[in-house]
Amino acid sequence: MAKRDYYEVLGVSKSATEDDIKKAYRKLAMKYHPDRNSEDPKAEEKFKEASEAYEVLGDSDKRATYDRLGHAAFDGSAGGGFGGFGGGGFGGFGGGGGGFGSAEDIFSAFFGNRGGGGGGQARQRRGSDLNYRMELTLEEAVKGVKKTITFTAESTCQTCNGKGTENPSDVVTCSQCNGSGEVRMQQGFFAVSQPCPKCHGLGKTVKNPCKTCQGSGVEERSRTLEVTIPAGIDHGQRIRITGEGEAGGVGATNGDLYIEVYVKPHGVFKRDSADLYVEIPISFTEAALGKEVEVPTLDGRVSLKVPEGTQSGKVLRLKGKGVKLPQGGMQGDLLVRIVVETPLNLTARQKEILNEFQKSLEGKSEQQPQKKSFVDSLKKLFS
Ligand SMILES: [Zn+2]
Ligand SMILES: [Zn+2]
Repeated sequence: MAKRDYYEVLGVSKSATEDDIKKAYRKLAMKYHPDRNSEDPKAEEKFKEASEAYEVLGDSDKRATYDRLGHAAFDGSAGGGFGGFGGGGFGGFGGGGGGFGSAEDIFSAFFGNRGGGGGGQARQRRGSDLNYRMELTLEEAVKGVKKTITFTAESTCQTCNGKGTENPSDVVTCSQCNGSGEVRMQQGFFAVSQPCPKCHGLGKTVKNPCKTCQGSGVEERSRTLEVTIPAGIDHGQRIRITGEGEAGGVGATNGDLYIEVYVKPHGVFKRDSADLYVEIPISFTEAALGKEVEVPTLDGRVSLKVPEGTQSGKVLRLKGKGVKLPQGGMQGDLLVRIVVETPLNLTARQKEILNEFQKSLEGKSEQQPQKKSFVDSLKKLFS
């Protein structure tokens, strides 16, 4: 039988809003819910059809793809998503009048957090993700570093290797749910699927549970891990280490470990993405006459020519002396800001020299272009 158009299934127009689609689906789901239509064999079919249509049209990305490609977009690839309809019974609505957030909410309300695939498959738990804040110096962040970290977390039980028992033949199918991991409970009008209380949704129980973890496959213990921090990482960035989060327990995947990088302020350099900044103070005579200065970089000192007549605040660029961003990212520069320092506590002799020098500047406005243009603006302002 050819598939009906999803818009037609829900009875909405192609320009329907998200809200229209949600309302239309909710109406159909209530009308054709199998628990209310046990006499009508077509109802379950209609209910599935509506749910499938809503799974696509209720998600703006999937809807856009469907609008472009039609059913072809979801054939085959949709298997996982719709697999849940296969065997397990339909549950009831989660919150009654609460309204559904997304297709996923609806699916989890109906089926719990089941993995795709056919009915009867046990619910998959997953260990929680962990977050570890790692402090680095600027040098470590720029050049990369290997760090050994130690933390205490739910971890795979070392006695049973996470199997829950030391003897694999002690793992048996749960007698209460027959391995599905779920039981149906009547709750007023609807039947609700709930995780099996005997096996906690795993579908399997252990006859002689491991003494260390009481069969959970998980124990809290200290773990030590060597972490490679890639060169160029920046403050606030995270690295994911797959599978090093909390252990999920028997039959379940581990969570991931996230390393969040905190770079301590540096005494000399400031960083802005790939560029580094440094300030070099020089005296006003050096700025006037020009000077070769030593500039620190993360690879040692380099010399830099500050040209004659350099103004305070001038930024000179040392190409390629910044940070190389990770994953083939750009190579930054070192930006050197020249700060002209006014000398303090002058001696009588120095004052004499400077007074003489100041006199020599009189009438030479071209030697102080900033001052000249300022004086000109003032004249205009007050004339
Ligand atoms: Zn164990
Ligand atoms: Zn069970």
